Amino acid sequence: MDWTRSETLALAMHQCAQCHGSGLRLARKGVLSPCNCVLRSIFRICFNRFQRCVTQERHLSRVSLEPHLGRTRPSTWGRKDEEYIADFTLIARRHLTEEEHRLFRYHFLLGADWKLCSRKLGMERGNFFHAVYRIEQKLGRVFRELEPYALYPLDDYFHGASRIGLQRIEPGPVRITQNHQAPVWAPQLQNYLRFPPVGRTA
Ligand SMILES: [Zn+2]
Repeated sequence: MDWTRSETLALAMHQCAQCHGSGLRLARKGVLSPCNCVLRSIFRICFNRFQRCVTQERHLSRVSLEPHLGRTRPSTWGRKDEEYIADFTLIARRHLTEEEHRLFRYHFLLGADWKLCSRKLGMERGNFFHAVYRIEQKLGRVFRELEPYALYPLDDYFHGASRIGLQRIEPGPVRITQNHQAPVWAPQLQNYLRFPPVGRTA
């Protein structure tokens, strides 16, 4: 994916010594890449949302209808907050090394401060903060660049259209049933996505 200044500008730190607030810096081969301050901002935005999701009252979590892209526009129901919690922790586990993940778990998931973490992991204070920065940068990038569902921007994650089965469903033929009910998009649509047929009494 390409990073643009319009996206990074709002996330960058104004006093950043590397990007001077623009959020982009020239990497090797003359390619523009996001500054570490931008990646850390993305991680913190996602982490704040994660904290909100895990600490909120259970009854505040809602079931929501997710529209899918494509002509057929089938929809599925989902619990976005719970999905987000699962995605956040699974992405971290998948993309961090074992050592990084142990620190991530202690510090970000269990809320241990640097004193506790450095005692538990046998780490110097400076090394601890460097490792935390590295984790934030690594995950910030993954949260933004992950395909097909990036965690960031959060608005797209929580309210955007899903791309489930887009390639499979999109070129599907239109077929109208004989008694002029709603068009049936079979057989591309999976069974669990289909509505049951409407009976005569309905
Ligand atoms: Zn920067």
